[in-house]
Amino acid sequence: MSIKHNLDNIKSKIPDHVTLVAVSKTKPISDLMEAYSAGQRIFGENKIQEMAEKHEQMPKDIQWHMIGHVQRNKVKYMAEFVSLIHGVDSLKLLKEINKQAEKYNRIIDCLLQIKIAEEDSKFGMSAKNAQELLLSEDVSELKNVKITGVMGMATFTDNVNQIEQEFKRLKTTFETLKTTDDSLTIISMGMSGDYQLAIDCGSTMIRVGSSIFGARNY
Ligand SMILES: *Cc1c(COP(=O)(O)O)cnc(C)c1O
Repeated sequence: MSIKHNLDNIKSKIPDHVTLVAVSKTKPISDLMEAYSAGQRIFGENKIQEMAEKHEQMPKDIQWHMIGHVQRNKVKYMAEFVSLIHGVDSLKLLKEINKQAEKYNRIIDCLLQIKIAEEDSKFGMSAKNAQELLLSEDVSELKNVKITGVMGMATFTDNVNQIEQEFKRLKTTFETLKTTDDSLTIISMGMSGDYQLAIDCGSTMIRVGSSIFGARNY
């Protein structure tokens, strides 16, 4: 199946209020251009250097989303152009993003990554820590970042019930955080295998890679 066909197929299945991030990590520019030609303008990458290289080579009306774990010392390579950073999980990282955004006179949108998976290996903050962060004076002083929502990664498992519980946990966390900051709008959850379930559980932004571009060879 072509990339355009895959994109059209997914777009036909998701409601208008859900944003589709095309996850293009490891894929060549020619594949990204195929998606671009089919109308896709939001791309997600999980490595800052790879995203920066692709940003250089691709048309400039693309919104680039950083969906992977962010190392603080690399924020400077994306601060000029990144449109949304999904994986913010500490005040320290938020401060670095703010500092780099200031250099370009930009406000960078960020999602707080919440730990929803049972398994230990995933990054993210507890709901409680996210709440404290939102309320902290430190954050209110950061003028060049804006927290616009939450992001979560479910456990890598075939157990649909478990994934559903984890997605619902993120939705509940979002609702709680929204009582503190009602400008929050984004719930980023759902990938190729589970985006329908994620949308049913309240996702407003899905990150889909292999269902658009095919399996990845690492
Ligand atoms: C790779 C990746 C995805 C996309 O995964 P697929 O299963 O290929 O759709 C989504 N989110 C994150 C954080 C990823 O790293």
